Amino acid sequence: MTQTPSQSSSGANSAPDIEQVAAGTARIACNGGGGALGHPQVWLTLTPTPHGGTAVICPYCSRQFEAPAS
Ligand SMILES: [Zn+2]
Repeated sequence: MTQTPSQSSSGANSAPDIEQVAAGTARIACNGGGGALGHPQVWLTLTPTPHGGTAVICPYCSRQFEAPAS
């Protein structure tokens, strides 16, 4: 038996779900993007990263938000 892996490499599933936000952003609101994966809007506080920017991960939808160093 030959199990051929899926050749439909659209790349939609491989890209990390990271939202780039403006530098200097202290807080962002996330609602999961609406739709089936949506959730009530919450405000998330970005915290400093070792790279000099800030980042936060939404506890509801695990989406990651990153702001570059300002
Ligand atoms: Zn979210």
